[in-house]
Amino acid sequence: MAYLGNAARTKEVLSKYNMSAKKKFGQNFLIDSSVLDGIVEASGVTKDDCVLEIGPGIGSLTQYLAEAAKRVVAVEIDKTLIPVLNDTLSEYDNVTIINEDILKVDIESIVNEYNEGRQIKVVANLPYYITTPIIMKLFESGVPIDSITVMVQKEVADRMVMGPGNKDYGSLSLAVGYYAHATFVMNVAPGSFIPQPGVGSAVVHLKRYEKPAVEVADEKYMFEIIRTAFNQRRKTLSNALSNNPSLKVTRQQVQDALTEMEINEKTRGEVLTLEQFARLSDILQR
Ligand code: SAM
Repeated sequence: MAYLGNAARTKEVLSKYNMSAKKKFGQNFLIDSSVLDGIVEASGVTKDDCVLEIGPGIGSLTQYLAEAAKRVVAVEIDKTLIPVLNDTLSEYDNVTIINEDILKVDIESIVNEYNEGRQIKVVANLPYYITTPIIMKLFESGVPIDSITVMVQKEVADRMVMGPGNKDYGSLSLAVGYYAHATFVMNVAPGSFIPQPGVGSAVVHLKRYEKPAVEVADEKYMFEIIRTAFNQRRKTLSNALSNNPSLKVTRQQVQDALTEMEINEKTRGEVLTLEQFARLSDILQR
């Protein structure tokens, strides 16, 4: 089977099935073999691994993964792509295609069925319209995941890897940093896809920690603080947090907590580290 990861084969497959990429599903097919190689290399996938691929499209990345991994389970929402995938992946006996929405499917039962509950690696060229919900579902559902290697919008990649004080630092940086060590792998230009996306792209590798990066009594409460702080970036933390009734704190309580932490009471959330948000959360809940 000829590889799909180039413009000529991709156009040939799309025309054979009389298809075009669907915008509503965020379809941008990879046509650059060096990018495909780079994703697989960054994922660290070996013949011992079971890979969960999200959105195989016409199967370009899936072919590379099938050669590197023991098994690939690929979840694709678009039912019109299923016959295409059955055709383009017919030579691989280690690939299973599941026609489901990744946000609705029970990932834990996939891991149990195909990898006996052992850790899987997630690798994908993600549909950009739902990047954050997918990443958060993967982390929050408690599914055994070793790492996530994904193509995302360049701007989102920047937000995932940035630390305090940077303009891209925000609730996504903290959420990712709570669960995983994030590394930037590479920038990818629009010309590496058909059709070309209107934005730049980048690959990130998120290696999951064995346990979250910080200890906090109530992680839901901490993330509500984080969301509130960054939703009102221009406000001081004490103003922002006391404005959110669900946190049940007064301005004075926030100021006292910051003083206890030896942080200026006029501080904004954007300069706090994950450790400081965890401590603030614990103090405010006392
Ligand atoms: N992996 C292919 C590639 O690299 O050429 C296609 C990547 S394309 C950016 C995103 C893929 O995700 C599309 O095939 C799209 O149909 C699929 N997709 C979109 N939303 C999805 C969802 N909720 N669940 C599963 N797949 C989805």
